[in-house]
Amino acid sequence: MDDAELVKNHSFGTWRKQRGWNPINLVSAKGVFLYDDKGRSYLDMSSQLVNVNLGHGNERVIKSIEQGMSDLQYVSPAFSTKARADAIRSLLEVVPKGITKFFFSTSGTEANEAAVKITRMVKSPKYKVISRYRSYHGSTLASMSLTGDYRRWFTEPNSMPGVVRVPEPYCFRCPLKLKYPECGISCANYVDYVIKQEGNVASLIVEPITGTNGVVVPPKEYLPLLRKITEENDVIMIADEVMTGWGRTGEWFAVDLWGVRPDLMTTAKGASASYLPVGITGVSKKVSDFFEDHVFAHGHTFEAHPVVLSSIPAVIQEYRRMDLLSHVRDMSSYVERRLNEIKEKHKSVGDVRGVGLFWAIELVKDDNMTPVGTYEDKYGGRLTVIDKITSYLMERGVYIFGGASWLVISPPLIITKEELDKGLNAIDDALAISDQEFS
Ligand code: PMP
Repeated sequence: MDDAELVKNHSFGTWRKQRGWNPINLVSAKGVFLYDDKGRSYLDMSSQLVNVNLGHGNERVIKSIEQGMSDLQYVSPAFSTKARADAIRSLLEVVPKGITKFFFSTSGTEANEAAVKITRMVKSPKYKVISRYRSYHGSTLASMSLTGDYRRWFTEPNSMPGVVRVPEPYCFRCPLKLKYPECGISCANYVDYVIKQEGNVASLIVEPITGTNGVVVPPKEYLPLLRKITEENDVIMIADEVMTGWGRTGEWFAVDLWGVRPDLMTTAKGASASYLPVGITGVSKKVSDFFEDHVFAHGHTFEAHPVVLSSIPAVIQEYRRMDLLSHVRDMSSYVERRLNEIKEKHKSVGDVRGVGLFWAIELVKDDNMTPVGTYEDKYGGRLTVIDKITSYLMERGVYIFGGASWLVISPPLIITKEELDKGLNAIDDALAISDQEFS
């Protein structure tokens, strides 16, 4: 049995039916390229799951982790460590102003689990959490219950009670059937109504830019308005920056695009450039003060793992050394221009949207803008044109992350214009497949 077969037969392929999973066996990666055991290379146009922000094989980060590993492999999170102190020092320089205390875990999912528990404790007896339908916050019970999209259906009816969902600012298919800007940002104002009608609302959780549900950038008024509404109603605002943080948008965090300061922020992925698994729940003093005299009934064996945390200062230093935030801003206008050209050329492209190095191409079946696929298709194992396109691109040596009816373009932030062109040219060619199916 070769490696890929062994992996397939004896470990879970997640978010899919096992039948039909034929993983490619990767053996190494460098920069923006992945290499398989057959000697083929793939340009990584999505940073895997929008997380390998510094690209693969960064020597400085690897060295820092090696040092961390030889210094101290593990101690209980009850101890202070140099790795933890250094990580905190670096984090305090980049996180949104007001976030001053951190809980360290090992994934975005765990970061959100902690966030909900914290807000429920702080705001008790208030307990409700508002999230949005078009959202993803993780795959364990609380975080999956916070998730608004189809993926939460898998845990229902056993999901965590007390989650109230609201429509999202998805202007391409406005759930309220309104048009921006005449809409007056009704989707945000509706949150005020929901808070008042529901009562007992402890917190609101939002991805500042919706990630896995299609890279939905809200209108500029949206997030500041939500901040105002949460402040007025004394509701904790949680920004889920698991995907949008760490330079992805050309700012350290997406909330910085609109100068919004959340009470609580969760992040993961790009914090360690994904060289090691990290989750971070960052809170403001207003939130952390509560725990001065209350037990934070939470914690994990791998919490604040010293080796994991040893990656964070090196990663932050690398974002700075390569001035990646400026690079991402430069690339942003270039990608925008190229994607708009692609949209003009292909009738199956309904919308292109994004910011920084975080973009989606949403594909449609016809002039009525019917999506080419749904989550029911994706998780039901039904092949859609998105699967055909991603397979074609793999054949062409380009890896891209496909959603239900969109392609996510989110390469490592170190990508050059030439490498971007290689990927975008292949995508341009691949869209002939969806054009052919357009009616
Ligand atoms: N929140 C958001 C916005 C995410 O995109 C993800 C993962 N894609 C998560 C939470 C969960 O993070 P993880 O997969 O690290 O548990």
